[in-house]
Amino acid sequence: EEQHHQHHIVMLPFMAQGHLIPFLALANQIHRRFGFTITIATTPLNVRHLAAAVAKNPTPSSGIHLFELPLNTSDHGLPPNAENTESLPLNLVVNLFHSSTSLEPPFRALIQNITADQNGRPPLCIISDVFMGWANAVAESFGTVNVTFSTGGAYGTAAYVSLWQHLPHRRRTADDEFNLPGFPDSCVFHITQLHSFLRAADGTDSWSRFFQPQIENSMNSFGWLCNTAEEIEPLGLNILKNYTNLPVWCIGPLLPPRMLNSNPTERLIGQHTGRKPGVSAEKCLEWLDSRSERSVLYISFGSQNTITPSQMMALAMGLEESKKPFIWVIRPPFGFDLKGEFKSEEWLPIGFEQRVADVALVVHGWAPQLEILCHKSTGAFLTHCGWNSTAESLSQGVPMIGWPLAAEQGYNAKMLVEEMGVCVELTRGLAGVVSREKVKSVIESVMDGGDKAEEMKKKAGEIGELMKLALSDGVGSSHRAMDKFVSALLSHKQETA
Ligand code: UDP
Repeated sequence: EEQHHQHHIVMLPFMAQGHLIPFLALANQIHRRFGFTITIATTPLNVRHLAAAVAKNPTPSSGIHLFELPLNTSDHGLPPNAENTESLPLNLVVNLFHSSTSLEPPFRALIQNITADQNGRPPLCIISDVFMGWANAVAESFGTVNVTFSTGGAYGTAAYVSLWQHLPHRRRTADDEFNLPGFPDSCVFHITQLHSFLRAADGTDSWSRFFQPQIENSMNSFGWLCNTAEEIEPLGLNILKNYTNLPVWCIGPLLPPRMLNSNPTERLIGQHTGRKPGVSAEKCLEWLDSRSERSVLYISFGSQNTITPSQMMALAMGLEESKKPFIWVIRPPFGFDLKGEFKSEEWLPIGFEQRVADVALVVHGWAPQLEILCHKSTGAFLTHCGWNSTAESLSQGVPMIGWPLAAEQGYNAKMLVEEMGVCVELTRGLAGVVSREKVKSVIESVMDGGDKAEEMKKKAGEIGELMKLALSDGVGSSHRAMDKFVSALLSHKQETA
């Protein structure tokens, strides 16, 4: 019988924080459970980010290797060191997408070397991001298989994929509502749920020219891994399976293990993302300790999105009027350098930070999100509905106020509202209208203990429990899906040997 440790899996994540972190978690899990050697290939700067995250792992492993794929940023009109979506101006993000296809030759050379080192035996498989569909052809040419890993949820991924494959979406009907291939007729999409690039896309623009071929190639995979649990997204899983016509293994959500303890005692083990927070976790926890149970609203738009100056102003005024305690992770608004100086006098109502000091913690830059969500004082999360934030919130039974901004966030929000019943949408995107009255009334509807608020809290708690069950060792569906995935790989290998 073959020794498991002889197997080698090569991973190819897309170069964004929200993709790298789940890929690393996937690598850790496969290595820990099956002893396979894993190589994660990405550009030098992202290798450095991953190395920092690996070093923070309480049990660092020698079985996970990081491999640098060189990227000449200037060839793609990118500033030096712009190897990640983080803090890249929106108009350059598309360049980063296109630049990722130039990683194919060095990636091919890596597979060649691994194959030669193993006496002509290729890696067991390549696990590539849905945005790196070209890896399918590489796998095939070496006689191995490619598996697509979607770092998002099932519903959001299926919607994103179907939308890019069925362009254009402009003026679909008079009321801008439409059905989407792959989705039941009862799922009605609205044009405002689409990100502006997707709304303008017609197959000839540079966004479509990137996404369409990558997604199409990903449809040739051996199967898809999805960062969700089948019990929490039954409809999404069904849609994704039927749409891709491939096996889909729901092996997630890949969350930091400490989020799954029912009573997180060991809560201060540092940032999972390797970033320095604008407030220490200790200070944040101390502040939360002084608040009553489920009374605090946490507000964050993730690692790379911001709202417009006028939206920020309305949000601040609504927060103040709601008189709820809150933690707001604040960054310069859209159109300004995300990492630049924050101009309170310009972007917030005069005297805002001083006036709210008694009830609020305004955190500039980056917050210890996991600590905040795990704390019993946190009662709701105003979020951009990025999948990691969504899964983190659900794991703690925290209901959400949705303000989707980009990527597949609009469909995550739709699923959270319509399928799970754990979210109220405040507005959508940078064009979304927000008033202080709306902010105040939505916060009240989610936090003020009415029937609707109670129902959302109950449902979020139930989903958090389902998630924990799915992830439990041995018996959980996500745990078993990983076993099934590995068996499918091994038996395929045996059949083709
Ligand atoms: N995050 C954090 N502190 C912040 C903002 C974000 O720790 O101030 C983490 C958050 O816990 C999550 C990730 O960054 O794990 C954001 O991922 P998500 O998919 O929600 O959004 P993205 O940043 O990819 O848009």
